[in-house]
Amino acid sequence: MSGPNTSYDPVEVAALDPAAVEQAVDEALAAFAAATTLEELKAARTAHQGDKSALSLANREIGALPPSAKAEAGKRVGAARGRVKAALEERQAQLEADRDARILVEEAVDVTMVPGRRPLGRRHPVDLMGERVADLLVGMGWEIAEGPEVEAEWFNFDALNFDADHPARQMQDTFYIAPQDSGLVLRTHTSPVQARSLLERGVPLYVGCIGRVYRTDDLDATHMPAFHQIEGIAVDKGITMAHLKGTLDRMATELFGEGITTRLRPSFFPFTEPSAEMDLRCFVCRGTDPDCRSCSGTGWIEWGGCGMVNRNVLSACGIDPDVYTGFAFGMGIDRALQFRTGQSDMRELIEGDVRFDAQFGMEI
Ligand SMILES: [Zn+2]
Repeated sequence: MSGPNTSYDPVEVAALDPAAVEQAVDEALAAFAAATTLEELKAARTAHQGDKSALSLANREIGALPPSAKAEAGKRVGAARGRVKAALEERQAQLEADRDARILVEEAVDVTMVPGRRPLGRRHPVDLMGERVADLLVGMGWEIAEGPEVEAEWFNFDALNFDADHPARQMQDTFYIAPQDSGLVLRTHTSPVQARSLLERGVPLYVGCIGRVYRTDDLDATHMPAFHQIEGIAVDKGITMAHLKGTLDRMATELFGEGITTRLRPSFFPFTEPSAEMDLRCFVCRGTDPDCRSCSGTGWIEWGGCGMVNRNVLSACGIDPDVYTGFAFGMGIDRALQFRTGQSDMRELIEGDVRFDAQFGMEI
């Protein structure tokens, strides 16, 4: 507010009163010092240095003074504004330094800290291998069937043409379910699913089965009392052993790589005739390394058994063996996994250590 025109004494202009100016400076300095954040300082700056602040007002009043008074008032107000400006800059620098120091602490990343993430579980490699084979069979137009692990003795043995006195039926090979005359066993192979499929689905039949089987073996590096098998059966008109060989070769190539084929050696199984052992071309040396550890230098690795479905099996399931023929094959998943991964001890497969499973990665 302007003083009366009759007086030129700046002291009489309220805003320019030295005490008022001094008070405005003190208030500004106190407000800056009281600001603990940059936001608070910004508000204090608007209040004490902005257009509507006491000092800005005083500065504007100088213009209205007579020339003789302007110099003194200008100097005094200028000095006051200078002190306020310096105090503001000092506090600004201080608060910025505080903020930077706080950010360094608050947002610091300790690169040596152990992550607290809970490790993810893994699917078991036997499951993954089984699914891989199932995918392969489905890709060839086959169906996947399941059967019970506690199986009727008839399906496990009789329907598959095992004689009543066949050594596989003996107690030292087979887990029988109590009581003794229950007629139930823990299935010793997935082959009963062949008989079940023939009975339930009829012909033509193209079915694969992947599942757990049981034998009274002690657990050691190469044997397990419970392990996994893949079983396949195809029954149709005009099926020959060439179809069997073609299917096995396709599986070998899909699972173990281009150029890996199979060979068949004569053998005997009650449920197939003729029967054959199947060997897989060694996928490590491909038959070129006499010192290969995977195949012991033979160039071949035993993979499983196969053959043409025995006429008696077809008859037992109500299929006319003069019209329909078929082939069947079976192989161990655990064993295939073992030589596919170079794993030397089968016990690792059942110990349930997630670190073992994790090596095989995750497949979906
Ligand atoms: Zn080899």
